[in-house]
Amino acid sequence: RAKETGRGRAEDYHPEMDAEREERNMLEIDLRIAIERRELAVVYQPVVDAEDWRLIGVEALARWNRKGYGPVSPEIFIPIAESTGLIDQLGLFVLHRACETVRQWPEIKLAVNISPGQFRDPGFAVHVGSVFQKTAVDPARITLEMTEGYFIQNPERARAAITKLRQLGVSIALDDFGAGFSSVGYLRQFGFDRMKIDKSLVQALDEGNRAADLLQATVALARSLEIPVTAEGVETQSQALQLQLTGCDELQGYFFGKPMAAEEIDKIYMARNKRRAPTGLRSSGLE
Ligand code: C2E
Ligand code: MG
Ligand code: MG
Ligand code: MG
Repeated sequence: RAKETGRGRAEDYHPEMDAEREERNMLEIDLRIAIERRELAVVYQPVVDAEDWRLIGVEALARWNRKGYGPVSPEIFIPIAESTGLIDQLGLFVLHRACETVRQWPEIKLAVNISPGQFRDPGFAVHVGSVFQKTAVDPARITLEMTEGYFIQNPERARAAITKLRQLGVSIALDDFGAGFSSVGYLRQFGFDRMKIDKSLVQALDEGNRAADLLQATVALARSLEIPVTAEGVETQSQALQLQLTGCDELQGYFFGKPMAAEEIDKIYMARNKRRAPTGLRSSGLE
């Protein structure tokens, strides 16, 4: 025990902390191998037009099936990738794979998540550009999603990185709005092309009026800045209808489809002209 060694107090020593550190090291080693061997998978979650619920886009999400253990959540492996620098390789892998995949769905937009750490690579925008070139995907179809953390930490570098990315022709979305500080200032200063409302705000809708008011105010804010809004984490029809009435442009969540393999999206894509909202809502004119 720590007490017996004479260093620190007994309370400071927790054998389970060693075990945790060990487990994390093993995770990192396995993740590195999985990335090098291109064993990560990319799944796609449908994004629908809020008015008629037709498929208009997909968000690419990384999946890792760890050998001998099973699936590991991105909530676990993305932070590990971020803290070890593996995120550069992981992020470009996901972008490349997703760009290849959306070539088969010409009218569908693609959203890909970007970690702040990826901006540390001064060649990041160049790498992104070369992915578009190699895969022959029109950057106008691509939205890169980022959370606000980096904009708070390092606003100047974030601005420079975003400017370079925009010059490639992609859109930039502020992800998880409503989950953190969610400052109006960041929305304005960085001129985001889209706001994604966090699922915690959407799911609070079932808890009463306060949440509905907050949601209304958030959408109004985006409107006043002329930024289109996607709501994430839509799990029920009632949420979908409320969000639609509030004026969200796009909806995403388990109610419309979980993240799925490209083959599954393909089926929805083929059938999309047959999909309609329950009442005779206006068509988006995608056909
Ligand atoms: P995110 O970008 O906000 O992605 C949305 C997350 O919400 C996904 O979790 C998705 O599966 C989940 N989700 C979607 N609809 C619903 C719903 O109706 N209910 C609930 N409860 N959850 C829903 P996932 O796939 O576990 O990813 C978690 C986070 O990990 C992502 O949040 C993103 O920040 C990060 N991530 C995933 N893939 C990548 C990647 O390729 N690169 C980077 N940098 N981050 C990634
Ligand atoms: Mg996202
Ligand atoms: Mg999100
Ligand atoms: Mg998130």
